[in-house]
Amino acid sequence: MKNKIPNVKYAYIGGSGTWAGNFPYDINMEGAELLEDNLVFDTPYGKTVPFKLIKLHKDITADHEDRLVLTVDFHGWHSPDEPSGGPEQIFWTFMEAGVKNIVVEGSGGGVNQLLDPGDIIIPTDFIDFKKVPTTPLVANKIVRMLNPTCPGLRKEIEKAAYKEGFTRVFNRGVYGCSQGPRFESASEIRMMQNALVDIAGITLVPEIYYARLIGACLGSLYIISNYAEGLISDWRGESIFDIYKDCAPKIGRIMLSSLANVGKVDCHCAEYVTEVDNKVKAKWEK
Ligand SMILES: [Zn+2]
Repeated sequence: MKNKIPNVKYAYIGGSGTWAGNFPYDINMEGAELLEDNLVFDTPYGKTVPFKLIKLHKDITADHEDRLVLTVDFHGWHSPDEPSGGPEQIFWTFMEAGVKNIVVEGSGGGVNQLLDPGDIIIPTDFIDFKKVPTTPLVANKIVRMLNPTCPGLRKEIEKAAYKEGFTRVFNRGVYGCSQGPRFESASEIRMMQNALVDIAGITLVPEIYYARLIGACLGSLYIISNYAEGLISDWRGESIFDIYKDCAPKIGRIMLSSLANVGKVDCHCAEYVTEVDNKVKAKWEK
């Protein structure tokens, strides 16, 4: 089924923080209403997975206007262990919709020795250990990756996380992005520690790059689901699935609350997209 992409300024990319839940049915959030489900869009990169359209009622938004949110499960991937063009499809859709604020969540391994399962990290920077080619969604534009996550969205995510009862919430830190779907080896984790990484995951790249490329602000939240390999020698991962079950509705609410509460932010996120000079462009096109 082909659907017309609606005009929407807000987007939420679901991840492993909510995969054990049934978003949005299990979040019981006043002022959040599911308008449409199973919206599949045609894109130059193939058909998307189904999106949902959610209305945040004006009673709960910062500007007292209704806000529409496009949302998609598990990063828009078509299978649980590989993206199959999902990131390109969903960000192309966001670009066509006019999305300007994106929140995304997930989980990861605590690389920083001080992190425990159940802690929340809202990263301020990242290192791309995937090193796989990304598709230039927008022709002839390059981006700087200075301050890649939006301070305004991070603040709202942090506030909402405390409100949901999380007590160890870190509004800082470096996300190390691995290729996946496997976990890292102990030696890879030691390399990440030497690179001052705090959390290891597999999804923030290319999302963080595509958000900037389409001129949108991005804020992200990750729950620590496990100690990264080699940190705790006798840890067997018992708690991972308990954590996912417990945190899913809370993280769903945190994501929608942050999109409802974000006001006008004095950020520079959209300024780091640069048009490639015509002379350079001509050389590329030869
Ligand atoms: Zn911003």
